[in-house]
Amino acid sequence: MAEENKDETYDVIVIGSGLSGLFSALLLARAGKKVCVLEKNQQYGGNLQTFKRNHILFDTGVHYVGSLSEGQVLYEYFKEVGIMQDLSLERLDLNGYDRICFGDTPDVMYPHAQGYENFVKQLLIYFPEERKALE
Ligand SMILES: Cc1cc2nc3c(=O)[nH]c(=O)nc-3n(C[C@H](O)[C@H](O)[C@H](O)COP(=O)(O)OP(=O)(O)OC[C@H]3O[C@@H](n4cnc5c(N)ncnc54)[C@H](O)[C@@H]3O)c2cc1C
Repeated sequence: MAEENKDETYDVIVIGSGLSGLFSALLLARAGKKVCVLEKNQQYGGNLQTFKRNHILFDTGVHYVGSLSEGQVLYEYFKEVGIMQDLSLERLDLNGYDRICFGDTPDVMYPHAQGYENFVKQLLIYFPEERKALE
């Protein structure tokens, strides 16, 4: 994956080209370091990527991303690496960005809500006796 580098010396070797490796490499390069990213797979991106096996597409890792409101962690990172303005974002359901069900009660969908207080509030509907545990 490395570009040809005649003297083949680097200040930093980053092993793995997932989000962490790419962010680190970019920030180090911006700080003037000569960086080489090594990736063992055929495509870079780690869990940001999909892959195909027997013509079936597997959606491996990242499906949604949190902490993207102004001032929150990923907002700051994405702004720092210069991609924030290029993203078209849509906020997921505040009362249930994920819904989880179990095999024995497939019709009941337990919501994962956004925000600490709302997370408790939404699950209390299903587990009214469990306030202490949820909190
Ligand atoms: C099923 C699943 C669903 C997820 N869903 C979400 C989600 O919806 N939202 C979210 O924010 N996060 C989600 N995550 C978490 C998110 O994918 C990870 O936090 C993030 O992608 C991790 O990035 P990373 O760079 O640390 O690691 P990775 O993306 O795993 O990248 C590591 C890279 O290192 C390479 N590598 C490993 N060993 C070597 C080696 N010896 N030499 C060279 N290369 C090597 C790997 O091939 C890979 O490309 C999910 C994770 C999984 C597994």
